[in-house]
Amino acid sequence: MPSRPRIHFVATGGTIAMRIDQATGGAVPALSGAELTEAVPGLQFVGQIDVEEFANIPSEHMQPEFWLRLARRIQDIVDQDSADGVVVLHGTDIMEETAFFLDVTVPTPVPIVFTGAMRSASDPKADGPSNIMDAAAVAASADARDRGVVIVMHGDIHSARRVTKIDTSAVDAFESIMPPDLGKVRSGLVEFSAAWSPRVHVPLPEQLPRVDIIYMYSGVDDFALRAALERGATGLVIAGVGAGNVNQALFQGINEALAAGIPVVISSRVPYGGAQPLYSYAGGGMALRRAGAIFARDLNPQKARVLLMVGLGAGYDRQGLEGLFV
Ligand code: GLU
Repeated sequence: MPSRPRIHFVATGGTIAMRIDQATGGAVPALSGAELTEAVPGLQFVGQIDVEEFANIPSEHMQPEFWLRLARRIQDIVDQDSADGVVVLHGTDIMEETAFFLDVTVPTPVPIVFTGAMRSASDPKADGPSNIMDAAAVAASADARDRGVVIVMHGDIHSARRVTKIDTSAVDAFESIMPPDLGKVRSGLVEFSAAWSPRVHVPLPEQLPRVDIIYMYSGVDDFALRAALERGATGLVIAGVGAGNVNQALFQGINEALAAGIPVVISSRVPYGGAQPLYSYAGGGMALRRAGAIFARDLNPQKARVLLMVGLGAGYDRQGLEGLFV
């Protein structure tokens, strides 16, 4: 890596780029990526900064087509060898999904670092500037190469696979589920722990098919599952209870979906421990497994959905899909 690393920022929006709108009192998109990076004192000492205005939207507004465009663009940046590290500025609400999507579909040793903010630029204690500084330090670090996509927030470095948002409002809003965290950045010093998450690669599809998440709760029937299939879902992810269990109504619906050739991935609405087949009563994980469902293991429902969409989009068959959920 050259002595002055080239750090390419890709701005997509989120709270980090928002200010309070005087008329409504709520935060709205307001600042460009260039304005954000220029406002960070000392950023130019971390490396040669280059900023691309990709979008300025809340992450809830991102559609699968947006993920495909972003993945193609970042693949171009790394293929052209135009950056030693990439920083994506992004809303925190959907950040783990976009980050994991890129982790799966953009194979590169170049660090790809996501960051954002929990407080808008209008807040006297805005966390955007320090997160930008930390993300740049990680993107510029030789130690960050070959580690896949990471999220850097509040001084912690998380792998895209393990991280999830666990707090709606605290600045320390992200946590790596099934720890340890992958690293820390303190005053520009980047340190990774030895532990590492498994990575899975799938060629970037041309299109992403519809995959819906069905939530299990006491008394639920199969209305959402059937509605998803009627709307054209080509795969389903179940946010099961406990280790990945459902009631009889969902069990029946899942069996019918599987019989119709729709892949079903079982995840859990419980953050820790992962999904695993333990029970053989109707709707228990073992019965779901016997019926042909795939277990998401450590992936939460939203990330299991990302992986199933990518696998289906890339044309993987049942066995190929099963091999992705390792
Ligand atoms: N909901 C907005 C988004 O995800 C703002 C949240 C944030 O950036 O923290 O883009």
